[in-house]
Amino acid sequence: MEPRDLSNLSIYRAGRGIEEVARELGLDPDDLIKLSSNENALGPSPKAVAAIRDVAEDVHYYPKSSHTDLIAKLADRWNVDDEQIWLANGGDGALDYLSRAMLDPGQAVLVPDPDFTYHGMAARYHHGTVEEFPISKAEDFHQSPERVLDAYDGERMVYLTSPHNPTGSEVTIEEVEQIAAETDEQTLVVVDEAYGEFTERESKVELVRERDDVAVLRTFSKAYGLAGIRLGYAITPAEWGDAYARVNTPFAASEIACRAGLAALDDDEFLEETIETARWAREYMHEHLEAETWESGGNFVLAEVGDASAVADDCQREGVIVRDCSSFGLEECIRITCGTREQTPEAVETINEVLADVED
Ligand SMILES: *Cc1c(COP(=O)(O)O)cnc(C)c1O
Repeated sequence: MEPRDLSNLSIYRAGRGIEEVARELGLDPDDLIKLSSNENALGPSPKAVAAIRDVAEDVHYYPKSSHTDLIAKLADRWNVDDEQIWLANGGDGALDYLSRAMLDPGQAVLVPDPDFTYHGMAARYHHGTVEEFPISKAEDFHQSPERVLDAYDGERMVYLTSPHNPTGSEVTIEEVEQIAAETDEQTLVVVDEAYGEFTERESKVELVRERDDVAVLRTFSKAYGLAGIRLGYAITPAEWGDAYARVNTPFAASEIACRAGLAALDDDEFLEETIETARWAREYMHEHLEAETWESGGNFVLAEVGDASAVADDCQREGVIVRDCSSFGLEECIRITCGTREQTPEAVETINEVLADVED
């Protein structure tokens, strides 16, 4: 027997773990600087860590009020109704729920090229198809209304990411509004704000409050340092918020995740330090990397380095793990996550040495 035909589904390849790389290179994991997965260089929110410890004795119960409490807290924070908050197992889980709720078999989604691969994957899992609109180096990877609307052909969902992974580019509220206005009434525009805390621009949640065809994705994985917990959510139009009750996997956001999320939302000090450090590191990289970089609203910077695969391999051998962007179709670029104030200069020095050696 066999599973269904899975040949058009791609395999998600996460950035490699620090233990895995250390073992392969025969190094101590503590000697490696991992800047390949846009994780929080400062670690997790300390308040979340305390909450996770506290809940440990109670995990024989199914999740109870924490799920409801976290939804209420997020709804309050974004000034939307509780039904509009679709809590999930990571932002990726929320992307699954949006696909479940939106797509009939054979319907299409429109995504940027390059893009975070899970937007397209979530559609394919739900028997949808994927169309792309090109964004280019020449236009600083801008996801402009022109590029989107030129390619748009009635797709059911249109994905924008701001700040965009892996390029760092951003879109304005006006641009999202124009795209939403000029696409069909039955097209949902999803703005992925996984890196929303790191930008100085305003969130597009305002459009969710004003319109019925825009949704926003947020996650606890990046700025709150909770990637390992798997907690994220979509903020969806008020009119069909009750669809969540129909598509939600029971208890998909665990008790541990919800308690950690509740505590992290109260950890303003940690969030501020995270954002400040990331903004500092971005500037440091723009200034000191001996490679072309692009303006970034996220906790990472895209740099043009020639043969990205070779450069990433060489950096790794020197103890600095960066993301080779070949899998995004950017064979000449690496993406470097913002490190701490100690890690970032060290990483930049290593990358510059590797680049100088490649040129020799
Ligand atoms: C990291 C990321 C997500 C969500 O990640 P989760 O860990 O599943 O919350 C979503 N979109 C983009 C663009 C990302 O980079």
